Amino acid sequence: MTTIAPQIDPDEAWRLLIGGEQVEAAGTYEVVNPATTEVVGHAPDASVADAEAAIAAANAALPSWRDTPMADRCALLGRLADVLAERSDTWADLVQAETGATLRIAQTLQLGHTFVERFRYYSQPRDLTVGIPPQPVAASALGSAGVVGAVVDRQPVGVVACITPYNFPLVNVAGKIAPALAMGNTVIIKPAPQDPLGILRLGEAVTAAGFPPGVVNILTSAGPDVPATLVSSPGVKMVSFTGSSPVGAAIYANGAATMTRVLMELGGKGAMVLTDDADVNAAVQAIATVWGFHSGQICTAPTRVICHRSLYDQLVSTLEAVSGMLTVGDPRADDTVVGPLVSERQRDSVEAFVQGGVDAGATLLAGGERPDLPGYYVAPTLLADCTADMHCVREEAFGPVVVAMPHDGDDEAVALANDSDYGLFSYVYAGDNARALRIARRIQSGNVALNSIQPHNEAPFGGFKMSGIGRDRGVWGLEAYSEVQAVSWLA
Ligand code: NAD
Repeated sequence: MTTIAPQIDPDEAWRLLIGGEQVEAAGTYEVVNPATTEVVGHAPDASVADAEAAIAAANAALPSWRDTPMADRCALLGRLADVLAERSDTWADLVQAETGATLRIAQTLQLGHTFVERFRYYSQPRDLTVGIPPQPVAASALGSAGVVGAVVDRQPVGVVACITPYNFPLVNVAGKIAPALAMGNTVIIKPAPQDPLGILRLGEAVTAAGFPPGVVNILTSAGPDVPATLVSSPGVKMVSFTGSSPVGAAIYANGAATMTRVLMELGGKGAMVLTDDADVNAAVQAIATVWGFHSGQICTAPTRVICHRSLYDQLVSTLEAVSGMLTVGDPRADDTVVGPLVSERQRDSVEAFVQGGVDAGATLLAGGERPDLPGYYVAPTLLADCTADMHCVREEAFGPVVVAMPHDGDDEAVALANDSDYGLFSYVYAGDNARALRIARRIQSGNVALNSIQPHNEAPFGGFKMSGIGRDRGVWGLEAYSEVQAVSWLA
């Protein structure tokens, strides 16, 4: 086992980014390394006045940014991608420490190509204009006869508040601000309180890339006042939110009176369907990512396994065996697979979730005991013989917890997969992709992967039901951050 000590200065002075200025907040709060409980840094704790200043700055910057040609806006995103490609590797220690991700995940999926590519993709200007075939019109009270032409174009929405969760702080923010900025919006970023320091580094890179003051603003805060100010301000025209479904629902309700536009990327309880001819070992490899990939703190994880009864015993016994092989521990050690959860609160919530499953009658085949480690760990956990009514099947744990239940045929598998308030990302493992596709088309889920868990980065991403509203990624990201405008004329 090799562990390299992180290079972090816990006394570094961090600043908000408002109107192009580095602004000192009145207070700070501690950001804690969940593996060691040591302080990683002191994040600025923005006030309501800071939030109002950021809203004013974003509105002041909007007219000239909106009028900047898309090619020039995109060129700045390209410059930002270059700056990030140069410097973001040096943030790996910081981002690893504040998120608790294993070093490998921090380097490759919190940062690295995954992060930079989100900006690079939107550095290509795209013409979203659509012409509509001309239409003859008869003379009427509205005007003379002729041929009406129309073109459909896209306008920016305005100031967008980007509110993000803790699991992949930089990638989540990049996925919002890159398309929003390309479309001519100005943004206010409010990252999750647990791990905001990498986002403040991103702010430094935005300034270095030459974005005009006020186009990108960053507010970090520990409490609810700052996000509450953002989502209720008439100066914010859109809230792009990624996080839990209850918070998303509260933001949606809050914005009704002002018709605030929303993009909601919310919770998930990924169904993993195995048919009677599925490759169990391939499915187990995929399911084990719930444990190994950022300790299950992934909205898309295949946490809800629905396996044909003829393969069920083989599946759960293989999963049980694999769970015991995964090293839980120091996320900086190169043999660690399962690191800590982000906080004591999250650890306690996952423990209560597992106990609830056991109390409801699920069979605990792996996990259930707190690892003897200094941070906030939960061991890989497997709850078998679950039923669709159990809380552990209906709700997300956001931790390394897999629930499994048997089915007796494709129709029942589809019914069980759809018996959920969520519909974000689902998976079908079948003997061939043609059969898997037939099942996928019956599953109410924004994304379905067949015999694989690999997503396509440019495919639209988002959820059915309580998993959200709207889609981002690819060209859908540009559409999400724009209003449709139709222009017509008589010829
Ligand atoms: P969370 O909902 O607790 O917090 C998300 C963000 O919302 C944070 O920045 C938080 O400060 C802010 N917030 C909290 N209360 C608010 C309020 N009343 N008004 C406005 N903002 C408020 O989520 P979390 O614990 O950080 O992240 C885990 C959740 O995120 C899980 O449910 C997970 O499924 C979801 N998630 C979804 C996706 C997706 O793309 N669909 C991706 C990652 C995470």
